[in-house]
Amino acid sequence: MKRNLLLTPGPTQIPPEICAALGRPIIHHRTPQFQSNLREAIKGLRYVLQTEKEVYLLASSGTGGMEAAVANLLSAGDRAITVDGGKFGARWAELCDAYGAEPEVINVEWGKAVEPGQIKSLLDADRDIKAVFVTLCETSTGVTSDIKTIADIVKTTEAVLVVDGISGVGVTDFQMDNWGVDVVVCGSHKGFMLPPGLSFISANEKAFGLIERSTSPRYYFDLRKYKAAFAKIDTPFTPATGIIVALNESLRRFRENGLENLFARYARLARGTRAAARALGLTLLADESCISNVLTAINLPEDVDGGAVVKMMRDAHGISIAGGQAHLKGKIIRIAHMGCVDEYDILTGIACLEKVLYELGYSFTWGAGLSAAQEAFNIDEVPSVV
Ligand SMILES: *Cc1c(COP(=O)(O)O)cnc(C)c1O
Repeated sequence: MKRNLLLTPGPTQIPPEICAALGRPIIHHRTPQFQSNLREAIKGLRYVLQTEKEVYLLASSGTGGMEAAVANLLSAGDRAITVDGGKFGARWAELCDAYGAEPEVINVEWGKAVEPGQIKSLLDADRDIKAVFVTLCETSTGVTSDIKTIADIVKTTEAVLVVDGISGVGVTDFQMDNWGVDVVVCGSHKGFMLPPGLSFISANEKAFGLIERSTSPRYYFDLRKYKAAFAKIDTPFTPATGIIVALNESLRRFRENGLENLFARYARLARGTRAAARALGLTLLADESCISNVLTAINLPEDVDGGAVVKMMRDAHGISIAGGQAHLKGKIIRIAHMGCVDEYDILTGIACLEKVLYELGYSFTWGAGLSAAQEAFNIDEVPSVV
């Protein structure tokens, strides 16, 4: 069978024990068996999100969780702040538009992070802003935002801070309660190593103040329904039972390894990937100051077509990486190091990238990427992770 290595920022690879859990016979959702799975999932998610607040599981991809946040927090005419520094930040503004809210969009050059001071100026100028929407890891550019500093600003106001943690949570540090984040959204098919189909949303009391008052139309994603049902360890609609059962396998891995060790491990994978790109004479899209450990976005030379790189790696060698989105289409490639990926997966990806760059006429020293990655991986000792 041909290799099928996913170095993509969602979906990510699924480890064997989670695959096995996905294959278990179905259980009914109105049973004590499912209740005990749901209870365990909520507990595990609280550990990963570093929160004691409510966590709800929705049957949707990540964007469903984002829509739930907007529909429940905002009413038509409400003002909000969003950050457009990539495709996913832009999605917050599109969702606000869809619900008749009025987003004040901060435009950030792709590859840079939002200046927290810009959010402060807008909040100071308009006391009626209801919510600030930001992205933990902007997956289209490989940039991590300074959520802690942004939270310090937002928590002194009436506005709530909503974080898209879909690619970042579980891969890079995110402390919902310590930092004072009001709402966070995550998805199953990124750092959680599951198939797409589940989103997670956590909201605190401040957020529930807005949720109770919102006049936006909502039904399936009405968080008041989830709050009432989850209080009884139940769900308002048929949950994605199969993925929730498997989620507990994923959450077990998080607990066994410890968040700190996982973050250190992803940081090491990122360090190797960046070193490889630079050694091949390529530059990174994200600014050094805000570069993410979740994925690495690599600029390609003008005469190398990113679409061809992605296609050749996938079709000829069975290795999936991501290309660029919007105006970066064809100009960059993105290599994800999230979820079930280790050093040797990254080395395989880099070896294949070298081969494809060679075939596309780009000149470099064979093995330069591999050797730089090996060296960067081995700078210090990081605890081993199962
Ligand atoms: C993947 C991703 C999304 C979108 O999630 P879907 O599951 O495709 O709906 C949103 N935000 C970020 C940061 C992502 O990485």
